[in-house]
Amino acid sequence: MSEPTPASGHLVDGPFDPEHDPRASLALEPAYVDNLTRRIVSTTGARVPVESPLNGQPLARIPQSSTDDVLEASTRARRAQAAWAATSLDERAAILLRFHDLVLDRQDEIIDLIVLESGKARKHAFDEPMHVAMTARYYARTAHQHLDTERRIGVVPGLTRVEVNHVPKGVVGIISPWNYPFTMAVCDGLPALLAGNTVVAKPDAQTMLSALLGAQLLEEAGLPEGVWNVVAGPGRDIGPPLITGSDYICFTGSTATGKLIAKQCADRLIGASLELGGKNPILILRDASLEKAAEGAVRACFSNAGQLCVSTERMFVADQVYDRFVERFVARTQAMTLGASLEWGTDMGSLISQDQLDTVQAHLDDAVAKGARVLAGGRARPDLGPYFFEPTILEGVTPEMTCFGDETFGPVVALYRFHDEADAVARANAGDYGLNASIYTQDGDRGRAIARQIKCGTVNVNEAFGATFASIDAPMGGMRQSGMGRRQGSEGIHRYTETQSVATQRGIRFAPMFGMSDSGYAKMMTLNLRLLKKMGRP
Ligand code: NAD
Repeated sequence: MSEPTPASGHLVDGPFDPEHDPRASLALEPAYVDNLTRRIVSTTGARVPVESPLNGQPLARIPQSSTDDVLEASTRARRAQAAWAATSLDERAAILLRFHDLVLDRQDEIIDLIVLESGKARKHAFDEPMHVAMTARYYARTAHQHLDTERRIGVVPGLTRVEVNHVPKGVVGIISPWNYPFTMAVCDGLPALLAGNTVVAKPDAQTMLSALLGAQLLEEAGLPEGVWNVVAGPGRDIGPPLITGSDYICFTGSTATGKLIAKQCADRLIGASLELGGKNPILILRDASLEKAAEGAVRACFSNAGQLCVSTERMFVADQVYDRFVERFVARTQAMTLGASLEWGTDMGSLISQDQLDTVQAHLDDAVAKGARVLAGGRARPDLGPYFFEPTILEGVTPEMTCFGDETFGPVVALYRFHDEADAVARANAGDYGLNASIYTQDGDRGRAIARQIKCGTVNVNEAFGATFASIDAPMGGMRQSGMGRRQGSEGIHRYTETQSVATQRGIRFAPMFGMSDSGYAKMMTLNLRLLKKMGRP
């Protein structure tokens, strides 16, 4: 097998070196782009340019799908579904395991594309192929556990045999965001495929190439034609036909869009899982190891420049350790290296777009104007690239400031002191969101006890978010305005199936027999119920 070529090998002007030419072109070779984009179902002839946030210049031109193209993609998916569901579970699992290997083998190419499209630091892009590979392995290896027909308790012991089948929903529509463009576009589709569904994917317009590379690798792993289809275009235009053509929608994105999608799904009476926004808290308890907490806090707040659904924007620190913790956290934050680079070695990359930069700047300006203090960062860095913003720590944030309760989705965190833990839990639970929380303490039992009081779908004790996010057997998702439904674990695959109960009756029927009267039958049945209870039967 020939060595895979990293995507950076397909740049028109060679690898990006901002030291020498911050405006260097990052355009990809047309042949490389065409090989990826030919997977988009598109007959419009229209192409939309996408830029790289590393330098704000054109990266590629993406073909666009019309409403009819989206409906055609759904038709192709529906046509392919019966044959796909008829393959054995072991065959489907084997494709996922081959995909796992391809993702690890081709990680340089995947990471290059992610960095080029999103502007994030290489070490944060690396998390994406890892998460996809872990998800592929987990579902392939647990396929039978989740999907085999199950025996349940029949009404008449020994005479009623009950089985539950997990049948695929059919066509699953996946709408994914730009922030983790490879894993968010792919990881939710893997359990859908394994369960016998086909997919129509609509990745975010800004990050189509990473998502298309995922589709290409699935194809190389042996996925039959028509099983994974990709459409491209603005969500408000092609979202509705996607929902029309699907039997289930998996959406990851903002709470506002999630609500629109939920309404459209309700009209069609189809299910949806919604992974939405957050305003995630960290609690640093007085017995926390302060070095570990400060190191974890940097990752919690500034991974992917804070453009992460589970990243921390509110930090509650025990009074007794506040000053010592803040000193460490500020020092670590100020020591972070920022840069526009395809290489390893920078701690934080760019924001994705002018929109994101505007939101971050607006939240900061509003907070500072109303009296918040900046302990670290606080500035845009156009010298590094058009959308760079420093990792920023605020103190003195109050409820009238926008960033107190609204998601910034950027590298800005607010610090708050607390005096007792009950107060910290109440403040962590305030607001509308409930996605992820972290607790730092040296007492694991205490951490877990507090976790039970936190209204979030995932809680990490002594880790930022990676412990829950990478534990694929555990469900992940939001409470309250942070979403509905769960990815990962058995919950993450059963959302794509309908349960079907099949009962086979023998020996008796559910009506009077042998000339018995109705009242005699009622007496006999009553006696039976009393007997079954006495026997301890459920
Ligand atoms: P967004 O809701 O604007 O877009 C997400 C996706 O929805 C994109 O593919 C977009 O094209 C599509 N879309 C937009 N409008 C649509 C419509 N009317 N109909 C159908 N599709 C539509 O979100 P965003 O701003 O791009 O992403 C950031 C948000 O996503 C943040 O709030 C973040 O917290 C959230 N997020 C959540 C998770 C999670 O797992 N909970 C993960 C990543 C991001």
